Amino acid sequence: MVKLQDSIIQNSIQQLSDYVALPSVSAKHQKQAATAAFLKNLLEEQLGAQVQVFDDYQAPLVFAQVQPQHLSDTTLLIYNHYDVQPEEPVELWESDPFELKQSAESLIGRGVADCKGDFISRLTALKLYRQEHGDFPCNIKFLIEGEEEVASEHLSDYLAKYNDLLVADLVIWESGSKNDHEQFQIEGGNKGVLCFKLTAKSAASDLHSSLAAVADSATWRLVQALNSLRATDGTIQVPGFYEEVVAPSEIEEQLVAQAPTPDLTKKWDLQLPLLKNKSVNNNLTFAPTINIEGISSGWEGSGVKTVTPKQATAKLEFRLVPNQDPQVIFKQLTQYLQDQGFTDIQVDYLLGERGYRWDLQNPLVDRLIATAKTVYGDDKVVSLPSSAGTGPMYLLNKNTHAPIVSCGVGYSHSGPHAPNENIRINDYLQFIDFFSQFLDKL
Ligand SMILES: [Zn+2]
Repeated sequence: MVKLQDSIIQNSIQQLSDYVALPSVSAKHQKQAATAAFLKNLLEEQLGAQVQVFDDYQAPLVFAQVQPQHLSDTTLLIYNHYDVQPEEPVELWESDPFELKQSAESLIGRGVADCKGDFISRLTALKLYRQEHGDFPCNIKFLIEGEEEVASEHLSDYLAKYNDLLVADLVIWESGSKNDHEQFQIEGGNKGVLCFKLTAKSAASDLHSSLAAVADSATWRLVQALNSLRATDGTIQVPGFYEEVVAPSEIEEQLVAQAPTPDLTKKWDLQLPLLKNKSVNNNLTFAPTINIEGISSGWEGSGVKTVTPKQATAKLEFRLVPNQDPQVIFKQLTQYLQDQGFTDIQVDYLLGERGYRWDLQNPLVDRLIATAKTVYGDDKVVSLPSSAGTGPMYLLNKNTHAPIVSCGVGYSHSGPHAPNENIRINDYLQFIDFFSQFLDKL
């Protein structure tokens, strides 16, 4: 068991601190080349890795590999991203988001949980393993992209060009966290997404609202169009939407049934009853969703303004599951709105990604889960076929044909993407132990 005062851990935290200090916010195109160069240097220096930085697009892609002295026929591919979410709102941070703050129990800073801390802990585990065994256990590859937080815009182009390099037996996905029950969570997938925008227009300018006696309004049109998309229980009304949905396998359903149910009502202080056509875990893992991200129209200032707005817009997203194709869903959506008489509503495609999920049945994953149980405790490990969130797993699986599992250093209050993003030092140390022991099982 590693300890905080061990020099390898002190070095590890210093590296994390240097990494966090690079404000690599992809939404602002900040420090992309500098962060890729930092990683190249770190991987060369710490592991003696062979590193290539591909800069075909603005955010460079970092690819690295290390090989053991003996021949190994096992290859692990570690995927991470070096970009982070914007730090705003800065006033809600209790410390500088880009200066790693260490308290007695925590490490605080933008990216520590998603996923700079995950990457450095994996690197440290590899160093630790080599220190103890004098060599690496198998072939290890790293793929670190810089645009994950902006929907991995160029990852498919990069992967299409360099997929020969990515041959692997198992992909370790970027990050993960313990759940509300303090169980180490291992996940085998994530949902896809389709983000789109609806715009309704009704006049060249806002009208005196006395004209509402005769003039229809953009805002009502938008509300009616939105209302046509979802039933009150959450069912999506677009014909064909569920047609390609892959039903969960028996094993996938078993995994979900074994996972404890999170108390979301308490955790998020929910004011409305849960949408519950199936169980909470079943919905979170297997159900596609529709969400309104925001609506804007008309007067929202203080007091009243009797005006009929000329325009109304809404941004929405579907979370998709295997095998839903965002392009196909978008066509079905536009067709449905037209068929419902909303031919005046403009529909814009913003971004799309496909989902990926599997049942975790693989000998390497069996070893990963068994190792996790020895480190975290038999009843402190839970595995799920998919998370409820989104990431480019589908793309990576398509290009590597390797199964993917996700796990990491976070916990249920890590607050990735939020102010005061943090991880607990104990989780960080435990993950390093877990990952170096897993390497030993390869
Ligand atoms: Zn992430």
